[in-house]
Amino acid sequence: MSGKLFGKCVVVTGAAQGIGMECARAYHREGARVAILDVSLEQGEQAAAAIGPETIFVHCDVASAASVEAARSAVLAVFGRVDALHNNAGIATPSKPLHETDEEEWDKLFQVNLKSVLWTTKHFYKDLKATKGPILNTASMVGLIGQPNHAAYVATKGALISLTKAMALDYATDGIRVNAICPAGVWTPMLRRWAAEQENEADITSYLDRIHPLGNCPEGDVIADAAAFLLSDSARFITGCILPVSGGAELG
Ligand code: NAD
Repeated sequence: MSGKLFGKCVVVTGAAQGIGMECARAYHREGARVAILDVSLEQGEQAAAAIGPETIFVHCDVASAASVEAARSAVLAVFGRVDALHNNAGIATPSKPLHETDEEEWDKLFQVNLKSVLWTTKHFYKDLKATKGPILNTASMVGLIGQPNHAAYVATKGALISLTKAMALDYATDGIRVNAICPAGVWTPMLRRWAAEQENEADITSYLDRIHPLGNCPEGDVIADAAAFLLSDSARFITGCILPVSGGAELG
């Protein structure tokens, strides 16, 4: 057996589908034991079974401190340790300008996309300190360059980028590296929902292909390869890095 993450126990949130599931698959392929934490029960169980042995699903709402604490106990009961944490769970809301965004939507976005990192850090910190395990946050290119009609979502991702840099400084002396990946578009259920809500879905598909200079709008595997690198010892001197995994989308 070999692999960049051989023998490591990796916790990844929001991995019942989409980018998180592709990351869980990549971590498993690189030799890790993987704990999928997700609010979606049926899909989470299916994802863990599809990825293979040494992969567990733990039902968890990352927006709830109590749920994250219980998930940590469940992970430790099986794996006994945590060597890496990937905060990937995220939600988006339908396109609309900020003045049409209601308080409930705003709060929900911030709870799932940002406050969740407070809860996972609080509950997994001791475990990660013990193993000098890295943290990876899934941010987004829109947190760096903006996006029309998604101000609240963009704000969560911008804040997550700042939080990543602050966490990198706070935890460097513990040997905990903290980085973020920034995808542009990635074909997942989230992006498909967004595309379906646009007036002309076919135009949107060709737009999403055009904005990535390196090629068409990708699937999650390209994000997963970068994520596996950042969690591995090959990235042992990289922290506070906000890495675009965007095919150059921001350059155009
Ligand atoms: P997705 O909707 O396809 O999958 C998200 C997963 O998160 C689902 O399994 C869902 O059940 C889970 N989840 C949602 N709320 C949760 C909660 N409260 N607790 C636990 N799990 C929860 O989304 P995706 O496109 O795979 O996005 C994954 C991450 O990547 C998100 O943070 C998203 O903001 C980010 N991102 C996506 C894109 C894209 O184009 N798809 C681009 C940039 C960034």
